[in-house]
Amino acid sequence: MCGIVGYVGQRGSLEVLLGGLKRLEYRGYDSAGVAVLAPSGELGTAKKAGKLGNLTDELRAHPVTDGHTGIGHTRWATHGGPTDENAHPHLGDGGKLALIHNGIIENFSELKAELIERGHSFSSETDTEIAALLVGDAYRETHDLTAAMLAVVNRLEGAFTLLAVHANEPDVVVGARRNSPLVVGLGEGENFLGSDVAAFVAYTKQAMEIGQDQLVTIRPGSVDVVDFAGSPVESRRFEVDWDASAADKGGWSSFMAKEISEEPDAVANTIRGRVVDGLVQIPEMEGLDDETLRSIDRILIIACGTAAYAGMVGKYAIEQWARIPVDVELAHEFRYREPVLSPNTLVVSISQSGETMDTLMAVKYARERGARTLSICNTQGATIPRESDAIVYTHAGPEVAVASTKAFVAQITACYLFGLQLAQARETLSTDAVRALVADLQKVPDQLREVLKSGDRIAELAHWMADTRSVLFLGRHVGYPIALEGALKLKELAYIHAEGFAAGELKHGPIALIEPGQIVFVIVPSPRDERSLHAKVVSNIQEIRARGARVIAIAEAGDVAVLPHADEVIRIPLASPFFEPLLAVVPLHFFGMELAAAKGLDVDQPRNLAKSVTVE
Ligand code: GLU
Repeated sequence: MCGIVGYVGQRGSLEVLLGGLKRLEYRGYDSAGVAVLAPSGELGTAKKAGKLGNLTDELRAHPVTDGHTGIGHTRWATHGGPTDENAHPHLGDGGKLALIHNGIIENFSELKAELIERGHSFSSETDTEIAALLVGDAYRETHDLTAAMLAVVNRLEGAFTLLAVHANEPDVVVGARRNSPLVVGLGEGENFLGSDVAAFVAYTKQAMEIGQDQLVTIRPGSVDVVDFAGSPVESRRFEVDWDASAADKGGWSSFMAKEISEEPDAVANTIRGRVVDGLVQIPEMEGLDDETLRSIDRILIIACGTAAYAGMVGKYAIEQWARIPVDVELAHEFRYREPVLSPNTLVVSISQSGETMDTLMAVKYARERGARTLSICNTQGATIPRESDAIVYTHAGPEVAVASTKAFVAQITACYLFGLQLAQARETLSTDAVRALVADLQKVPDQLREVLKSGDRIAELAHWMADTRSVLFLGRHVGYPIALEGALKLKELAYIHAEGFAAGELKHGPIALIEPGQIVFVIVPSPRDERSLHAKVVSNIQEIRARGARVIAIAEAGDVAVLPHADEVIRIPLASPFFEPLLAVVPLHFFGMELAAAKGLDVDQPRNLAKSVTVE
């Protein structure tokens, strides 16, 4: 949550900061603000509640003198409402220091009392302002921004990325991080800081990780990193493989529309480079060799939101193929109840950003208690992969719309690949069986391109249903998590009541919700599935239809048995039953987006949400 960008160099800093904030706005859009240092040393700030457009209007109405050094912030409010006063930056040292913050300073009340005692007054309700005042006071002693920041960070508890500039140091930005994200972009005669690489990928693809409890000082020609004790640290450099244009809308009506269209590529790119001679070989898995994989006797998938639904699909596949018990847990429910872990437990975390605080804390907790850890993540240089024994990167490219789409299908694909690699190592599937599954998985991107063609029909349905107040989703087996995902998309995008149910659960309660006209999406299992779930779900459809439900079935091509029972059938191509979730979810992603659009809502930035949830 919250997007942070910092710049020192030769370019006009406002252009870099506003461009970076535009790419990071998905992280929070309660307010936006910048602080820039004019070459004269004058500190100019502007901040405004609401989306970034309000800040650019404000800058047009009240320009600040631009220079070549500055910091910028988009906020997702935790302490104090989304007002102009609470927007960042906050000031210290009599207005000569500006500071921005991502996270929550948990001991802010006691620090605030101390500052009041010292005679300070506050102009916001944020926890951030105490850090600005503390660093400002420390600067008066040290006359050095790095030293001032170092003097304060150890007093702060909780999660924070802080960036600060001071009028006396016109070519310096100092950043510090604990439990919140920060990466450095390395340029020629210029350097950047960002919450993630999207902040600076338009200018440089050379990047550097900043570890936990580290502090970085950037100048046009240098980057210095120390730990919170002040000792120099060697930092890992990496090259960003995202295209700058990948973070642009590229002519689409919304990022979400663009990202749904990229779902086939997200799957294809996640498979790419991981299949050798028809079998799965994931290079980044070396931290978990085959011998270790054979010693694992239990898998725990931890994630939140959509990623947890990807994990549920993964559970069905991994358990079936590798014959290991797999459980899926919400990361925030995990570490507060002393879960039973052993060195033979593998904890698999799933997070698009690799910064989800609940998931990060759960991974750390599991690792401290001896479990092995694997991270499925879409963002290079992120914290969770660094805290894990092994990684499977999803290569979905930057996802900007707050509601996840292409990252979701990439996460499911990564789970499949991991499950197959595990089955190979444990010899629970024959080589031929793995090859057949891999070949089927490789067909999915083209099949997804077929499914995308149903977009127009779904848009019609969504516009026809724009006044609907409740939608239910039913699925069974791997279709169940897809039902949950369909419902979540409607809640977060269209703000309407939606529930997903396991179809078999219907008679145990939810069927009471069915009344004439109730819209129910049903993900119909393949009639080719050997578990004969198809017949059971078709019976479920008849049961709800008899009670007046309007049924929209998502069913595979050639499934004629479903036709007499559904009001509408959306077709998906024939795939291996385990891979159907990848195909069935796309119409639901479309539907969520189109229903929100039909209601005139902002599909990329739904209310109250932010993309990467970096606070607990
Ligand atoms: N806790 C700070 C605030 O509410 C920072 C929130 C953020 O990460 O955007 O302003």
